[in-house]
Amino acid sequence: MTRPLDPYRAKRDPGRTPEPVPPPGPLPAGRLRNGRGDTFVIQEHHATALHWDFRLERGGVLVSWAVPKGLPLDPRTNHLAVHTEDHPLSYAGFAGDIPAGEYGGGQVAIWDRGTYQTEKWTDREVKVVLHGARVSGRYVLFPIRGKNWMIHRMDPPPLPDWQPLPELVRPMLATAGALPAERDDERYGFELKWDGVRAMVYVQGGRARALSRNDRDVTASYPELRAMAASLGTRQLVLDGEVVALDEVGRPSFGVLQSRMHVTKPADVRRLAAQVPVTFLAFDVVHLDGRDPTALPYVERRALLDALELSGPAWQTTPWFRGGGRQVLAASVQQGLEGIVAKRLDSPYQPGRRSEAWIKVKNLRTQEVVIGGWKPGQGRRADTIGSLLLGVRTDDGLVYAGHVGTGFTDAALRDLADRLAPLRQRTSPFADELPRPDARDAVWVAPSLVGEVEFGEWTRDRRLRHPSWRGLRSDKEPAEVRREP
Ligand code: MN
Repeated sequence: MTRPLDPYRAKRDPGRTPEPVPPPGPLPAGRLRNGRGDTFVIQEHHATALHWDFRLERGGVLVSWAVPKGLPLDPRTNHLAVHTEDHPLSYAGFAGDIPAGEYGGGQVAIWDRGTYQTEKWTDREVKVVLHGARVSGRYVLFPIRGKNWMIHRMDPPPLPDWQPLPELVRPMLATAGALPAERDDERYGFELKWDGVRAMVYVQGGRARALSRNDRDVTASYPELRAMAASLGTRQLVLDGEVVALDEVGRPSFGVLQSRMHVTKPADVRRLAAQVPVTFLAFDVVHLDGRDPTALPYVERRALLDALELSGPAWQTTPWFRGGGRQVLAASVQQGLEGIVAKRLDSPYQPGRRSEAWIKVKNLRTQEVVIGGWKPGQGRRADTIGSLLLGVRTDDGLVYAGHVGTGFTDAALRDLADRLAPLRQRTSPFADELPRPDARDAVWVAPSLVGEVEFGEWTRDRRLRHPSWRGLRSDKEPAEVRREP
């Protein structure tokens, strides 16, 4: 006959784990027995997979479920709750580190504790009312298959106008322009512009999901975000920010990020994440624990974001400055950064809109381009790409904007050759005629790859002067590539 807590003891060696392991014997007596005990505890457990252990005192033990996403706060969303072995009552006070390699190795913290009332307790249904510091309300647990149960909140959400985590909030976009006039300086917040790739990061139940500017799921490319989400526990939020990789002098570099941007295979991502780590720089918050702050002015959203104190090995909150745009711009030049963004202090967040409330002031002139073909190199480079033929979209279609033959690393050239090979086509994708020297030896491709170049200026015949390749932009669609002012 198995005695109570035998399965618990069988998984643990008291010499190796700091968890309480009571010796076999009778369970504690008194009011703690026969279902009159009324303690509940929820432990946040950072094990191989983050979960919250939900335990209810009953019959002298803690009846337990592991809830991967934590208790739901919204009756519209049920969460999985995996029934686990009964724990000893003394476990209700346990917090600490279980050594790696032991059962449940990782950190355990008490997330909430309190009392509860039982409304119903059968094998098919457990209905309780929790009275905790962080969670209160009526919950029901019911089995669905084997050890898998579901937990459902029966009360309305804890806030009257509580909103579920949105599925999609498109990033607000900045308009390219000049610094606001000196007299308006105090009406703006100024941020440095980070030379990386935009990401909207959705955090719920300690898990992150990241979407690019063009709504692609890029979560698999940036495993660094996992630790950030785990550190946020049960908070739910959507952050707007930039994923950056640093160059050898510690500056964000779009070129360096290239080796991470287009990779999704887990083994490749793991290897590259060790070589080229990325950092997520958060600069706005567009959902926060059941509330939608997008209508709040920038200055209030920044206060909410700053209060989160996001800071970790691979994530930070970016600084911002109230007024002083000239000094911020000068500092960005001095530090060799891409530019700054001026944001109106009173402006709401406008999802998916290119707004004049946000002005990007660039130190570096860049242009997104569509690759329409390439030309082989000269002499010893004849078997590789010598230059790319570039176009921008206009009302007339894809219009030729010149060719770029510098700024490539060898790895970038090889990668481009691989990506362009299957796109080969017999005719030019450009709406206009190319000058004869540019068209000579040209290999045409379907215009589906977007890249970015740095350049000096537009010539009078609408070509890029002195363009230099910066990298591919898988986060942009060919149709949205327009000539920048
Ligand atoms: Mn656990």
